[in-house]
Amino acid sequence: TFLSVANFATVLRVRVPELLEKLQELGFENITNEHILDAETAELVAEEYGFEVNRDDNLGADLFPAPLPTDDKKLKSRSPVVTIMGHVDHGKTTILDFLRKSSIVKGEFGGITQHIGAFVVQTPVSKKKITFLDTPGHAAFLKMRERGANITDIIILVVAAEDSVKPQTLEAIKHAKASGVPVVVAINKCDKEEANPDKVVADLSSNGIDVEDYGGDTPVVRISAKTGMGMKELEETIVTIAELLELKTEEKGVVEGWVLESQVKKGLGNVASFLVKKGELKPGCILVAGTTFCKVKVMKDEKNKIIKVAMPSQPIEVSGWKELPEAGDYGIQAKDESFAKKVIINREKRKRMMEEASQIEEMNQRRIKAIEDSKRDEKIQEYQLQGFSLEEIKTIEPELFDDETSKIQDVNFIIKADVSGSAEAVRQSIEGLGNDEVRSKVLYEEVGPPTDSDIARAKGSNAHILAFNVKVPKDILNSASKAQIEIKEFNVIYHLIEDVLATLTSRLPPIY
Ligand code: GDP
Repeated sequence: TFLSVANFATVLRVRVPELLEKLQELGFENITNEHILDAETAELVAEEYGFEVNRDDNLGADLFPAPLPTDDKKLKSRSPVVTIMGHVDHGKTTILDFLRKSSIVKGEFGGITQHIGAFVVQTPVSKKKITFLDTPGHAAFLKMRERGANITDIIILVVAAEDSVKPQTLEAIKHAKASGVPVVVAINKCDKEEANPDKVVADLSSNGIDVEDYGGDTPVVRISAKTGMGMKELEETIVTIAELLELKTEEKGVVEGWVLESQVKKGLGNVASFLVKKGELKPGCILVAGTTFCKVKVMKDEKNKIIKVAMPSQPIEVSGWKELPEAGDYGIQAKDESFAKKVIINREKRKRMMEEASQIEEMNQRRIKAIEDSKRDEKIQEYQLQGFSLEEIKTIEPELFDDETSKIQDVNFIIKADVSGSAEAVRQSIEGLGNDEVRSKVLYEEVGPPTDSDIARAKGSNAHILAFNVKVPKDILNSASKAQIEIKEFNVIYHLIEDVLATLTSRLPPIY
């Protein structure tokens, strides 16, 4: 879609000077053989040479846009999908652990659970089902938010009773407001002596949460994830809100849903956890997500049980993916493999096109900048030839030096993580951190432990390797230290963020 003049000349089978002349005839000025032509210009010129131009109109739109329209007559109620947000250490993980344990029915085989990004709980009193996303601030959730879609129906905002509203609480409030998803406040750690839930209520109220205690419609539940106090009430409150929301979906028909995370598993190959939003997912279904597809082989739930049919709001782990889809990808059932392949080829082309376009844009920007730089250098040299010192030139024409002072230094990172969901979450958390002097830049994020090739790439671009929830093999640590590349291991995302911030701070130029 974009062509340099030199390449274009080859395509047209004319000599470069001849093409340049033609372009000048057509009104283009100052054109060199490196110049990049856009599709429209190229088309015009090609027609001048008597070529018939064949345009690929299919590239205009996604062949399988989501979500598909719903048929109101077929709607059935479904259970809510809930995500937990709140400040670090306020108890998100502990609440999820409590809920997960309470969901294991007594006497159930071993009660072994596997992490598939979400789990289903049956509430203690009303015996209703609730699906919890089990990674706080889940990558898929954030990605959906970016696209203006919601994977969750309700947000539990956790605030510790002895700590009250903190920066990430405010961040969570912002997310909830922007998405329009209703909030249930859980004031946690009420078992503690220092607990002051009334202060939390007041602080939330002054930060824009319309708390029930003050006559608003946001429920507030006082809990302790440690003792279990108030947990029943929390679950039943979610059920009540869900009923008010009248959540509905098509139970039968074409399947749609979200990819929560993906990874390669021994014996199963590529697996992805999938949260069904619509329809009945069964083995044999073809699911297209992003630029890959799956012929559903085996479905398992969070208790490692094989599932024959997955219904809306049910999370399952699905095997049979050709390649790993990404957390937050939207999956839709295709009628057959050949259609799935068509959709993917089209999406890949579109993706390539967009990448190419942005690369060319970047290249042109760089070229423009190089020209400006050399003009500026020339000017400075002129001054110097006239006998001015750099300091003097700076006072005469300070703008000649503007660019130097505003240069942002990128600090490069490579992320290796256990599953695509966390790789994505880490990238989202650290990409672009910093200020106008240093800034973090993620070169790439991948699933799996660091390898020699990561070390080589880190060496080439002076990057730090961050290993999240993956064990770094001894020999890799050895070769990294030989290559003077730092590999750091983390299991907690906030520790990782803090460390990245420390690295950035250490790169700040000294202040004189
Ligand atoms: P997260 O960072 O929000 O996931 O917080 P965690 O669930 O990891 O909890 C942070 C700390 O608070 C841990 O040491 C927990 O044991 C503790 N904690 C969590 N909930 C409670 C609670 O209800 N009462 C008390 N006393 N401690 C709690």
